[in-house]
Amino acid sequence: MNLATGQAPIAAIIRCADSRVAPEIVFDQPLGKLFVCGVAGNIPTPEIVESVEYAVGHLGTTLIVVMGHSNCGAVTAALQNEFVDGLFAQIALAPTPDLDDCIANNAEQGIATILARSPMIEEVVKSGEVQIVAGVQDIATGEFELVAQTQLN
Ligand SMILES: [Zn+2]
Repeated sequence: MNLATGQAPIAAIIRCADSRVAPEIVFDQPLGKLFVCGVAGNIPTPEIVESVEYAVGHLGTTLIVVMGHSNCGAVTAALQNEFVDGLFAQIALAPTPDLDDCIANNAEQGIATILARSPMIEEVVKSGEVQIVAGVQDIATGEFELVAQTQLN
């Protein structure tokens, strides 16, 4: 598709704002293929979820990826109780204070948050038209490891 005339991204990505995270490079995709939404801690905030709804509803995107990453500063800050409210307080920590566990848990929890905040996305996920996956990018290797996913029908 000519980039100037439109877009048909294959996936909507909810990524951390961290400067070391680059979905196009990690997933080896050219411009026009990924609808990338970024916020510290890859939290599906209402604005992020509305952006993803646009991709699903208007651009035909059928895959949503919640993309955590190793050594996440936002999750580290949440783990150290640096924030009692606001965005960072929404980070879903794991039962144990292990950073990697918390990063994985926060990404996985993103799936539930998206479904809770968007009846529209919940409907297309339930019908099997759209899948949400969550995973963690290893900053050192660039590898993306899946931690959770919704089922396709
Ligand atoms: Zn981060």
